[in-house]
Amino acid sequence: MSNTFHGGIHPRYSKEFTKEIPIREVIPGETVTILMQQHIGAPCKPIVKVGDSVLVGQKIGDSEAFVSSPVHSTVSGVVKKIAQVLQPNGSKGEAVVIANDGEYRRLLMETKPLSELTKEEILHLIREAGIVGLGGAGFPTHIKLNPPADKKIDYILINGAECEPYLTSDHRIMLEEPKALINGLEVILTLFPNAQGIIGIEDNKPDAIEMISKAIAGKDRMSVCVMETKYPQGAEKQLIYSATKRKVPSGKLPADIGCIVDNVDTTVAIGKAVLEGIPLLRRIITMSGEMFDQPANYSVPLGVSYRQLIEMSGGHPEEAVKIIHGGPMMGLAMFDYDVPVMKTSSCILLLSEKEAAICQESACIRCGRCTRVCPMNLLPLELDRFARNDDEERFLRYHGLDCIECGSCSYVCPAKRHLVHAIRVKKRALMAKKRA
Ligand code: SF4
Ligand code: SF4
Repeated sequence: MSNTFHGGIHPRYSKEFTKEIPIREVIPGETVTILMQQHIGAPCKPIVKVGDSVLVGQKIGDSEAFVSSPVHSTVSGVVKKIAQVLQPNGSKGEAVVIANDGEYRRLLMETKPLSELTKEEILHLIREAGIVGLGGAGFPTHIKLNPPADKKIDYILINGAECEPYLTSDHRIMLEEPKALINGLEVILTLFPNAQGIIGIEDNKPDAIEMISKAIAGKDRMSVCVMETKYPQGAEKQLIYSATKRKVPSGKLPADIGCIVDNVDTTVAIGKAVLEGIPLLRRIITMSGEMFDQPANYSVPLGVSYRQLIEMSGGHPEEAVKIIHGGPMMGLAMFDYDVPVMKTSSCILLLSEKEAAICQESACIRCGRCTRVCPMNLLPLELDRFARNDDEERFLRYHGLDCIECGSCSYVCPAKRHLVHAIRVKKRALMAKKRA
């Protein structure tokens, strides 16, 4: 049986822009802007004030809420202001702006050799390092790695699929930091002594498959699972099915079926935090699309502005038809790029008219294509209708909340219906109602 899932699409991957380009370090400018909410859960509150001196790696925001994750300074310098700023998703949020003194004086967390750390100490280090899911979700990792005692975890799946077109940051990490990735997986497997670690990689990355296979040679609790190149292979439920043939039931979590999934970069961050005491301070970001003179993969300190990155890469945002934060399938269109890089940033796309393919939507012709590609076995055409008609009862009955917002349905729709957009908006409204 091949390692794949039902449905899905084969878009043009456009990874050739950056897949051969090594990761380059970015030096921050005169200031960095550290957002207080870079994760799912309660936002942090600043724990520094204007005029305070801070070090690289010093915690500057935290929260007592159960679901939250602290944030740290990525430069040494002085807190210049605490203000509401524009975030990459277009809303405003609180941030600490730090004037960079250019000295990069560091503060590390105290740690011990892995064999001397208890489970609680490992989870505490992961929390204090501010590690969240870097695959896009931003869920605090110390919570994900601490499931209820009755959940028996059999598999730790490391998501190296990187199925979104254009993105190559995880691919480059696997090629350039295989040891760091394996270190992170060792740490996670220490927390789950009965689990197997599986690194899932799509078959369009043979060099990464070879590199990681070599790096895990002799480690009997680790293996590489080569998966079909198909979008959305890297979605959590699809990755689990491809690697283990286990299905996450509606309304359940991967831990309910014995699985935990972590992204490649998250796993690297876990290793660095626990083994070296380094908090999460940077993101690997792909800069791609026809409107860049020098597409790139950058290692970017959190808080650096998108504008700086676009300028470094010779971007022409004024000529781009679309500026996207994230991949073209699941990312968000942006109207302003004076926003700071955050933990869930992964890619900046400047797309030309040809690449963006902006089309006018028309009436559904009931061809059924959207249904055939939906990896969650949903009926996107019906969910779209229920969402637009505000028919919440039927939207829920047809499992609208199970939609993973992959955009496969919109991609294949000949009528160019904005299916995922309508479903996403309705999902958000229903979830806000539930929370209220
Ligand atoms: S793919 Fe588009 S046109 Fe075809 S059934 Fe779905 S919504 Fe209708
Ligand atoms: S309905 Fe949701 S899960 Fe299904 S294809 Fe559309 S966006 Fe993806």
